[in-house]
Amino acid sequence: MIFLDNASTTQISEEINQLVFETNREYFFNPSALYINSQKVAELIKENIKSVQTSLYAQNFNVVFTSGATESNNMAIRGFINNNKTAEYLFSMGEHPSVYNVAEDLKQKGYNVRYVKLDKNGVVDFEDFKQKVNQNTAFISIMHVSNETGAVNNIEELAKYAKMVNNKVIVHSDGVQAVGKVEVNLQKLNVDLYTISGHKINAPRGIGILLVNKNLSIKPLILGGGQQINLRSGTENTSGILAITKAIEFASQNQQTNAQNVQILRDYVKHNLLSQIQTCKINESSVNSAYILSVSFSNFRGEVLLHLLAEKQILIGTGSACSSKKVDNRTLSNMGNTKEQIQGSIRIGFCAKNTMEEINLVTQTIIEIVKNGYNTKE
Ligand code: PMP
Repeated sequence: MIFLDNASTTQISEEINQLVFETNREYFFNPSALYINSQKVAELIKENIKSVQTSLYAQNFNVVFTSGATESNNMAIRGFINNNKTAEYLFSMGEHPSVYNVAEDLKQKGYNVRYVKLDKNGVVDFEDFKQKVNQNTAFISIMHVSNETGAVNNIEELAKYAKMVNNKVIVHSDGVQAVGKVEVNLQKLNVDLYTISGHKINAPRGIGILLVNKNLSIKPLILGGGQQINLRSGTENTSGILAITKAIEFASQNQQTNAQNVQILRDYVKHNLLSQIQTCKINESSVNSAYILSVSFSNFRGEVLLHLLAEKQILIGTGSACSSKKVDNRTLSNMGNTKEQIQGSIRIGFCAKNTMEEINLVTQTIIEIVKNGYNTKE
């Protein structure tokens, strides 16, 4: 089987599986209990927090472990929002449903929610952004890397501009598809809140992080025993915490070399598809993650291609797995794609372990299927 849907989730690495197993066996004690065994677990968690801060240059941030990026995104937004319905809350049109649907919910409740457009390359349209940011903007949420296309938003510049207009504005960025894929340095990004998910970087599902600037006070989403400096109650998921920390460490240390290798694979697929299939278009930006290739065919349905490839043990995606059952795609339609192009889109999500041999086979198979239509079954 060739797995090329790594933007939806990744396989847990052997090393992390082992770490999870050993942590659950040796360090199962409740970190809040008073005996020495528990104190050791609490120490371990503290060390892991330091390691996350070091990997991401996030010494000025509290590290809050959550159940995943969906919770982190909800917490970032809902934890900040107070009853101020005159202030403006700005979101990009390309956000993942775990941000976008929260924004829509706030809008329904009477909050002053505004959206900034994407340009044809799938990044936030800077002109539109400039028009929409003003002294009344209280909160901005813009994803670092698009889960649909891999387009990289220039968070550093966007946040800098917004803070120049209003130095009180709070900036959140969903970094789920960025960590380990592009450079993530919290000292440079100018954000106040940053979201990470474990299962996109070879750790298990059910563990995520919200980085919260130490100067920022937000309300917890989940109330209870007051764990994690009152920001996220619930007995800590020790094995998940150790797993996501190790995954961030690996991903950050090897980020540049991995990205260079994956870029070669992505370029190979891209150039071959473009030269062999006239009806295809690549949805990308000039600064793009090497790990995602979004392709739109105007004469072939993405879903059909996905199933035909799956029959040959090649797994790809048709777009965000969380909304793959929907016909529309907010990001691709914002980029100006036609209905046919949206229905004809696939998302290839690479991982550092993919080989050129696999990628060559996948590329040739896609070309064969799209060129020959449905008569491709052996
Ligand atoms: N944000 C982005 C950009 C994502 O790609 C995903 C996963 N599809 C999420 C948030 C949600 O992550 P989780 O599954 O950890 O809740």
